[in-house]
Amino acid sequence: MNRRDLLKNMSALPVLGAFAGTAKLLPLTEEPGNAPLAGKDFFKELGIRTFINAAGTYTFMTGSLMRPEVLSAIEYASKEYVMLDELHDKVGQRIADLLKCEYATVTSGAASAITLACAGILTGMDEKKVAQLPFLDGMKTEAIMQNAHRIDYAHAMQNTGLKIIYVDTKEELENAISDKTAVMYFLNANNFDGKIRVEEFQQIAKKHNIPTIIDCAADVPPVENLFKYTKMGYDIVCFSGGKGIRGPQSAGLMLGNKKIIQAARLSTPPRGNTIGRGYKVNKEEVLGMLVALETYLNTDHDKEWKVWEAQIKLIGDAAKSVGGVTTEVKVPAIANHIPTLHITWDAEKIHATAADVKEKLRSGTPSIEVAGGENNHSISITTWMLIPGQEKIVAEQLKKVLTEKALSESHG
Ligand SMILES: *Cc1c(COP(=O)(O)O)cnc(C)c1O
Repeated sequence: MNRRDLLKNMSALPVLGAFAGTAKLLPLTEEPGNAPLAGKDFFKELGIRTFINAAGTYTFMTGSLMRPEVLSAIEYASKEYVMLDELHDKVGQRIADLLKCEYATVTSGAASAITLACAGILTGMDEKKVAQLPFLDGMKTEAIMQNAHRIDYAHAMQNTGLKIIYVDTKEELENAISDKTAVMYFLNANNFDGKIRVEEFQQIAKKHNIPTIIDCAADVPPVENLFKYTKMGYDIVCFSGGKGIRGPQSAGLMLGNKKIIQAARLSTPPRGNTIGRGYKVNKEEVLGMLVALETYLNTDHDKEWKVWEAQIKLIGDAAKSVGGVTTEVKVPAIANHIPTLHITWDAEKIHATAADVKEKLRSGTPSIEVAGGENNHSISITTWMLIPGQEKIVAEQLKKVLTEKALSESHG
């Protein structure tokens, strides 16, 4: 059907014409004949495997599960129109109030926040410069970071056209700073790996009047980190929405300096002639992110921690009950700061590689994903992404797989 036929057909529908502009249309799911899709098993119909996530907040595993409060907010938002900029303004202000920082905005993730912050720093409120990115004629051209902080996601800065200068020492950093320097980037997760630590890095930047970005994408818990780095003086602090905060996986937070964030907003939708047009966050995710944050702030974090510890103990005890298996619980210092169970086995007693065990868990019913395996005879497990109760299944299945591997090999 071509366009003209389509229009002709539409005008031949008197009902539509009569309703348009006069009657309030019912939301789609309330229209007769449009039954809700409850009970429909979409993933199964698509032939897609779902699994218990005992690994963590990995993008390739689709991150975290949103809390019911977030889903309610998303459903609520999906039924009304609002002006996108007005929503971003109001939600940004609300988040800033909650997190006691100067300003904030919801982005499409931590990486997007890094790119947009760089854009804001480079362009200020100059709309010509906004349209010009990623070509930097007339703008600053360099970002500086430590070698020890190299991470794929730092590519986000290069999207603006910035070139990254890598340094190791404080002296190298001070020498690298010039009138080309737009921004200094700090990867919080690697704080203890670099020669320049989080506070000193910010102080050096401040001394030279260079704006700073700190990437804290995976750095809650603890909840205090949402407040800590803006207070420390970082101009821009970036968090993922869909990791520990359990907001929409395609959302994130940019917190901090109002001037930079307002300038960054010039590179975001609804505007089109920008490098940020592809980083759209629509009303459902903006509101979902706000509600996820509010819900996270209201969580009893001590209680949650105790639940994770109990789950880890249950799984660890089950694994340890198999001969040749040892376990250890560690908590990473900064990113993914949660109880993490490391399960290691004696290759003499259990003739299976980490890949074998992972594959067995993956192909079981229900399917389970775990992490680790860099060492050939160990895997790691976190429980924070489990639906309560799943820890029992993980404990049972893991014990079964390890026992099978121990038995089958001793007979073979
Ligand atoms: C996950 C992660 C990112 C990317 O975050 P998104 O929210 O997926 O964009 C960036 N930096 C670090 C350190 C991360 O862990």
